[in-house]
Amino acid sequence: MHLPAPERYDSMTYRRCGASGLDLPAIALGLWQNFGDEDPYATQLDIVRRAVDLGITHIDLANNYGPPPGAAEASFGRMLREDLAGLRDELVVSTKAGYPMWPGPYGDGGSRKYLLASLDASLRRTGLDYVDIFYSHRFDPTTPLRETLGALRTAVESGRALYAGISSYSAERTLEALAVAEEIGLDLLVHQPSYSMLNRWVEEGDPSLLDVVGRAGMGTVVFSPLAQGMLTDKYLDGVPEGSRASRGGSLRQDFLSESNLRHVRALNEIASARGQSLAQMAVAWVLRDPRVTTALVGASSVAQLENSVAALDHLDFSEDELTRIDEHATDAGINIWAPRSSS
Ligand code: NAP
Repeated sequence: MHLPAPERYDSMTYRRCGASGLDLPAIALGLWQNFGDEDPYATQLDIVRRAVDLGITHIDLANNYGPPPGAAEASFGRMLREDLAGLRDELVVSTKAGYPMWPGPYGDGGSRKYLLASLDASLRRTGLDYVDIFYSHRFDPTTPLRETLGALRTAVESGRALYAGISSYSAERTLEALAVAEEIGLDLLVHQPSYSMLNRWVEEGDPSLLDVVGRAGMGTVVFSPLAQGMLTDKYLDGVPEGSRASRGGSLRQDFLSESNLRHVRALNEIASARGQSLAQMAVAWVLRDPRVTTALVGASSVAQLENSVAALDHLDFSEDELTRIDEHATDAGINIWAPRSSS
């Protein structure tokens, strides 16, 4: 059994999630990658234990995290049982459903049939009685929003989830979702979009997604603030073995184009001048907007997690720094979730 560090709440910053009563840590840990069956359990456990000791109260999951799908929830469930048993009430655990999970017509999308069966399966894998936040993982153009959001409401009303959220919905779809949620009496706590210096879609448009969630009093948990590792010093001199880009999955090697890397190098220099690693500046940068509640990072080692969390030592930016960052914080064509935002 892990004895959590007594000082775990001394240095983490907590930010209120929109207009709700829930505080979230400024940095949360996601188990999308590095928590599959092929990843050593001991390393996974070390990362989660360290997260807890650093005051990271929020752990983000989804039904399909692994590989294979479901493995990350099962692994985290084992940790909760064997290692973190007394800590349930100190943790905010989220999960999601929306992407393909099992064969046939009921294992994908936004139907009530899929979402509630998936949530029950997530509860079985994690061994939890309830999750804190249940998300619709993506907008499903083939299902009425009333049905998807109605399933989230049932999840909350039946006690399987405490709060509901949506992920990757565009500004327009979020406005529609908010209208339906109000009609059916559902509070949407939080939006989870991708956001980083190389992927600024949440700022674009009028209203932008950040405008919409800010005005609605929703919180925002932004994922991939390190652009899956591109906004670290990792790829400055090639693709290291074992890195995410080397594995041929979600971080495509063509994202590491010379023009993108030129911007990353320039950003790395700005970070150095601030006395920070690039990862730390990337995290601090997404948190500069008060409408962003939490930067949701991934980590394949304890050292990475510690490095990212140390962003909290220097969160403020001068106007001059922000202007210089803007020159290089340009769209890198890496938003692989865009097709699932609105259609
Ligand atoms: P990220 O923080 O942008 O990237 C994490 C990766 O960057 C790590 O796996 C590691 O890559 C590298 N890294 C992390 N810290 C580092 C450091 N300090 N120095 C050098 N390299 C570092 O986030 P992400 O893993 O893409 O996503 C984070 C979480 O967001 C996920 O786990 C998930 O919970 C959530 N998410 C949600 C959605 C959605 O649709 N809602 C989609 C994607 C992600 P290596 O493995 O190469 O070491």
